[in-house]
Amino acid sequence: RLAEEYDPAGVIADTLPLVQHLLRKTMIAVEREDRATRFVQMNRTELQQVLVNLVVNAIHAMPEGGRLGLRTFDSGSGVAIEVSDTGEGMTAEVAARIFDPFFTTKAREGTGLGLSISRMLMAQHGGSIAVRSQRGEGTTFTLWLPASDDAF
Ligand code: ADP
Ligand code: MG
Repeated sequence: RLAEEYDPAGVIADTLPLVQHLLRKTMIAVEREDRATRFVQMNRTELQQVLVNLVVNAIHAMPEGGRLGLRTFDSGSGVAIEVSDTGEGMTAEVAARIFDPFFTTKAREGTGLGLSISRMLMAQHGGSIAVRSQRGEGTTFTLWLPASDDAF
């Protein structure tokens, strides 16, 4: 793996075009807020893979449309990236199992691997992934990544 350092907002900007065709199908407004001032240290392609997983899940959770939030901010010694949606949310029972391999509530397109792989990738880079969700209100996933000491 390559050691890299980069601005997380750039990865988010590069990720959105990959899901543009899905965003166009429903009325989803994208809200971005880039406040992180540090470079993150994680394989860039793997962070992008995690973000695609989270954004596709968020879009699936909002078949009637809604708001997709993508936010970066400094957090402790690292950087946090929040992916939030105003979709269906999940029960505590479901939320407790979403990181298990092959756990899915989707009848067709679900493999149930997106979040378990995402969690593994975050852990491999010394980062983490957490969720908070309210049924009927929406869901927020928070990634945390170690950052470089240099700010930009
Ligand atoms: P898959 O998308 O193939 O089902 P994932 O590992 O990506 O597998 O997600 C597992 C499950 O977590 C989903 O089936 C769904 O029940 C739940 N989930 C994930 N993201 C969200 C979200 N943003 N809103 C509601 N439920 C979600
Ligand atoms: Mg998924």
